[in-house]
Amino acid sequence: MSRYAYVNGVYVSPDEPAIAVEDRGFQFADSVYEVIALINGQLCDKRGHLDRLERSLRELRISAPVSREELGEIINAVIDKNQLCDGAIYIQISRGVGKRDFLFPDPDVTKPTLVVYGWPFDFTLTGEQVKGTRIVTGPDLRWARRDIKTTALLAQSMAKQQAVEAGADDCWMVDGEGFVTEATSSNAWIVIGRKLITRKADHSVLKGVTRNAFKELLEKQNYEFEERSFTPEELYVADEAFATSATQLLKPVIEADGHTIKDGAVGPICKKLIGAYAEYAGKGSDFQLSWSYDD
Ligand code: PLP
Repeated sequence: MSRYAYVNGVYVSPDEPAIAVEDRGFQFADSVYEVIALINGQLCDKRGHLDRLERSLRELRISAPVSREELGEIINAVIDKNQLCDGAIYIQISRGVGKRDFLFPDPDVTKPTLVVYGWPFDFTLTGEQVKGTRIVTGPDLRWARRDIKTTALLAQSMAKQQAVEAGADDCWMVDGEGFVTEATSSNAWIVIGRKLITRKADHSVLKGVTRNAFKELLEKQNYEFEERSFTPEELYVADEAFATSATQLLKPVIEADGHTIKDGAVGPICKKLIGAYAEYAGKGSDFQLSWSYDD
């Protein structure tokens, strides 16, 4: 089946050239993006993702190429054209095309580049959710503004490659002080008793939209939430551990750096939260818990 990517008002095949050599997204990773889960034809947490996209643009002083309403229409058109029901919707906005220069080009002359496309994705619970995953830890080699969702993803890509080559599923990255920041493309959590712990969402991590939804869901289930940093050593002896993201939902971790977490099986709190989240996610874009992206 043909695949269609929206690029600045025209549809192209996603594997064909459509971006200028001097696009700043290509040359400087001067671009931001979002990935939204489409589950049973419904966009999950659309408002949270579009709020974060607008925040990323503001932080980098890139102007929005279209209004939120227009972007919503483009997303719907991409879903229709690609006949997607369960999938991932990818939105990327770069500062646009300009003579290669470290200075930002004049915003009155340069128009941002907008790309929207998607691909099918199976959200039925996979072996990783049922059996759990194995992670290794490694140094976080990224820049200091990880709260902005930019396409500068090489450090995460290297970390994931090294983890998989070491026989693991993913890497949990560790900052210079010895604390876990997050996984390569998801937020990292540990469970101690009834307390669920994840790092404070400052500039050191991406504030996951899924993390925000989980925070509210777990509080509804009367679990405690604590925002603080933790070390790999705390992870090794935690009761449970997991990662959250839009497409991975909740991925339990059963082994870290060769240490079996608890008895090496997916724990009861992970199981309960996967069920609660699947129910929430299935309700679609018109349904969102009460949190807002800035909470
Ligand atoms: N942290 C990083 C580094 C990510 O790349 C992502 C998602 O891509 C997340 C966390 C989770 O964010 P979300 O829950 O909004 O998908």
